[in-house]
Amino acid sequence: MTTTNPTISPIICAPWCEYGDGHPNEHFPQDQTCWGSATYVALSLEPADVDQDGDPYPARVGAMAHRPYNEAAVVNLHTELCGFKNIDTCAHLTPDEARALAEALTTTADQVDGIKLATTEGDGRTESCQLRDVRRRIRNMLDRFPASGWDLAESEAVLAALAGIVRGRPEGERLPS
Ligand SMILES: [Zn+2]
Repeated sequence: MTTTNPTISPIICAPWCEYGDGHPNEHFPQDQTCWGSATYVALSLEPADVDQDGDPYPARVGAMAHRPYNEAAVVNLHTELCGFKNIDTCAHLTPDEARALAEALTTTADQVDGIKLATTEGDGRTESCQLRDVRRRIRNMLDRFPASGWDLAESEAVLAALAGIVRGRPEGERLPS
């Protein structure tokens, strides 16, 4: 006699499901959930535990695709903190939320590492000087050529000149006279 629920039928797994078999042996449909492969980062600054074999068991944060029962797939963010913090919890993120978090992590890590915004010309200081210069040129130009009464050709010439300033090649652009 089998313990398998006779009313359960295999589902169609998500393409990334590590099981991929439709979860036919679950007892309840609610347990037929799909899981992708997990990627964990060990947190070296957090207290670690030891596992049953006496090996270190680091605190860690990981992500994996997950499709809960009857719901859209999510990014499952799993956090495990050892010692007195003793946290083992999951948060469900939409793909966009996960991307926003990834971007926030990268931005913050760059901040902590002292990495400035990447530029083609040099460091962030150079870029901010360039930005001020570009803004100054655009202001000057709009002072000299207020945006009124232009015909199409003049408007296009101004736009081309502005584009030239932004690209850092203001020379050679023809302004309306
Ligand atoms: Zn599955």
